[in-house]
Amino acid sequence: MSGLLDDVIDWWRNMRHRHEGVPVASEEVTDAVKAMYPHEKMQEPKRQSRYTYVDGPMYYLGQQIVKAMQDAGYPAKILYCYRSAWKQNELYVKGRTAPGPKVTNAAPWQSAHQYYEAVDIIHPSRGWDVSERYWEALASCVRIVSEKFGVELNHGHYWKFRDSAHIELRDWRLVRDRHKRNVHDQGDLRPPNRDELWWRFYEVLPDVVRSQYQQGTPPGGVDQLHPDLAAWLAKSSSNKSLLRDLLS
Ligand SMILES: [Zn+2]
Repeated sequence: MSGLLDDVIDWWRNMRHRHEGVPVASEEVTDAVKAMYPHEKMQEPKRQSRYTYVDGPMYYLGQQIVKAMQDAGYPAKILYCYRSAWKQNELYVKGRTAPGPKVTNAAPWQSAHQYYEAVDIIHPSRGWDVSERYWEALASCVRIVSEKFGVELNHGHYWKFRDSAHIELRDWRLVRDRHKRNVHDQGDLRPPNRDELWWRFYEVLPDVVRSQYQQGTPPGGVDQLHPDLAAWLAKSSSNKSLLRDLLS
């Protein structure tokens, strides 16, 4: 995603919060996109069929939620998964050291988005400007995917500071704390790298990884496995706590 588009989207998010959570009517989308998605509920012209594995487990689960939405007749897309700490800071200072109302409670490195642990899912042409039915459908799809993959998710739809587009892994703070200990405290102020995203993928979705390997098709981007992980994958039953020990 280009930096300019990021800026536009952030401006848009800011405006939305500025209006006390009431979504603004128009997204900065092209006329082609508007023409392609004239209705809130309709058959998706470009359905989710391929999945990305390299952006961590939440991105993968987000794609599954998008797919479930499409099955229910609601077009949807992932707007954000990763958001840089720099970008988070820009949002955070608003209403604090910069003018305007507060738009987020999360300081840099304190949002699940900095660790690829959250997605924001919206309508492709209407953005947040959708009916309550749309958000209820999304809430159902979050529950379905959570159930199907055995993963605990938080949906901002139920928060007091309501954020219906936002879905995150319930234990994301574990990743934040681990990252702080293993990376930031070592003086390396960077986001999770590709290897770390992979390890997290194994941790959250072991069965997805295992079934890919059993089919003889390693997920794209995997060249070689860490021997400990290979041994763990070879075990007949998944053992998340064992993997957690390996990772901590
Ligand atoms: Zn979010």
